[in-house]
Amino acid sequence: MQKRPYFRNSITELEAIYSLNASDRSILILLSKELMHRNTPKAKALLQKVDKSLIGDGPVSPPTPSIPRKIEPDASARVAIECGHCGESNFVSVLPDIVQHLSCAHCRTSYEALYKHGVMRSKFAQKPANSSSGIPPWVWVLLAAAAVAAIYVFK
Ligand SMILES: [Zn+2]
Repeated sequence: MQKRPYFRNSITELEAIYSLNASDRSILILLSKELMHRNTPKAKALLQKVDKSLIGDGPVSPPTPSIPRKIEPDASARVAIECGHCGESNFVSVLPDIVQHLSCAHCRTSYEALYKHGVMRSKFAQKPANSSSGIPPWVWVLLAAAAVAAIYVFK
């Protein structure tokens, strides 16, 4: 249930409430929530002022700790994958269960990266110019192990 104590107040009244309570964080938060429901230019201008006061950029310095932010650890998680050809590290975003078609930033070798069950697997395309022998399977095991290690290093 959302409380909107200022639901019935006009924008002029809200402006007055702001100027009288510019140092009261709890009121500023309520004002900010109320103003988000309004679309008039005046309301938007006041919302900016209220938000500025809330983040400490306004006329008052808020003594209370800042609003806790929702942290999503996996949103920016990246893993280093060593290129199968030039050995340089490429940083790949962790997108669980999604096959990413990428290419090495250094030698342009294309590769696929798949993050599954907590492990980043990579498969590098073989260069046509290379010898037919290709890369032995143990290299892939090594690369997967390196990627897993990198998760903990870059966390
Ligand atoms: Zn490379």
